[in-house]
Amino acid sequence: MELGKHKQQRLYQVWRGSNKFLFGGRLIFGPDASSLFLSAFLIIGPALGFCIKILIIIRHQMREHKSVVPWYPILIVAIVLTFLDIYFLFLTSSRDPGIVPRNTKPPECDETFELNSPSMEWVNDRTPRLRLPRTKDVLVNGHSVKVKFCDTCLLYRPPRASHCSICNNCVLRFDHHCPWVGQCIGIRNYRYFYMFITTSTILCIYVFVGSWINIVRGEGTVRKAISSDFLSDFLIIYSFVAVWFVGGLTFFHFYLISTNQTTYENFRYQYDKKENPYNKGILKNFQEVFFSKIPSSMHDFRAFVDEDEIMLTEPTDHNLMEASISSKEKIDIEMENKFGEDTGLTLPEILQNMELDGIEDDMGHNEDCKKGDSDEFVVPIERESTEATSSLKVEVGAYSEKKSDDIKSE
Ligand SMILES: [Zn+2]
Ligand SMILES: [Zn+2]
Repeated sequence: MELGKHKQQRLYQVWRGSNKFLFGGRLIFGPDASSLFLSAFLIIGPALGFCIKILIIIRHQMREHKSVVPWYPILIVAIVLTFLDIYFLFLTSSRDPGIVPRNTKPPECDETFELNSPSMEWVNDRTPRLRLPRTKDVLVNGHSVKVKFCDTCLLYRPPRASHCSICNNCVLRFDHHCPWVGQCIGIRNYRYFYMFITTSTILCIYVFVGSWINIVRGEGTVRKAISSDFLSDFLIIYSFVAVWFVGGLTFFHFYLISTNQTTYENFRYQYDKKENPYNKGILKNFQEVFFSKIPSSMHDFRAFVDEDEIMLTEPTDHNLMEASISSKEKIDIEMENKFGEDTGLTLPEILQNMELDGIEDDMGHNEDCKKGDSDEFVVPIERESTEATSSLKVEVGAYSEKKSDDIKSE
């Protein structure tokens, strides 16, 4: 990795996160963006089936010289809803969700440094080892809020930001990493995400009701129609199942918006039990999500990056050490799950729930947060029971992270 070997490169070409870029860095996706195809298929497939059904009915009506007037609006609404749904899906997944720019070196020790802080830990630096507190208290609307140091991004995360380990970025107002959308949901795409799930719910209800009407409107009995109209049968069952999922999600996020919480905060802090510093009242909370200006991206992915900056983003021994620390603590959490009974130590309840609820993307994979949240749980195990078991895996983890960085930089 000598200086001068690099051609002038754009930011997206030397990006340290796990994102995928399209059209020369104009569109940014999560690493699991391929799931977009599945999500789009699950929307377009049944919607297309419904439209075909309506077209068949229109043709049939025409042949029998009956009125086709009500069927055209039904068809048009179905097409518009489908397009809107796909449009919001695309907007959610192809934009910068609010990634916080990484630091190239840790911040200087400042006055907030408290020697006796219980959360004090070594934060490793390249050259002289700096001692930085793991967490810092900041004031938000008169409430004291803890912000954590991110070892990967080398910064104190702004309040409400969190590190998504799938995308490997700190994201502002991190809600969760959505595997269906293949992108983090953060400050810049939450609005579109909500519109996406709402439109999906409306589309489901529309197809469900429309298909029932198709079954019921026939001249024969309903039972006869059910046994002959397989397409409508399928659409009714499909939309019935899907509406529980997307409808439930829409209601849940409606509640979150009205109380100004993120999914992450809801699962982690349970604001219902203590005061939420971000809650401004239901109207203002909605205004904030739907009518406030979306902050512009903090990155120009197409901008050319200096060679010096590229050097700084290359993997170093420091990064390797960092990776090993992260992996080790990641494993400690896993060990805790497995050996919790043996050691008598268990994960905080909320972490366990996250896994059960399938939101491990949001939290379970968030190595930095695990680290921060479970210090008191992790440390004893790390030092005592799982040292030997974990060290092997740590090396493998560190190696693979190093290796992938090497591949990227080549
Ligand atoms: Zn981070
Ligand atoms: Zn993510």
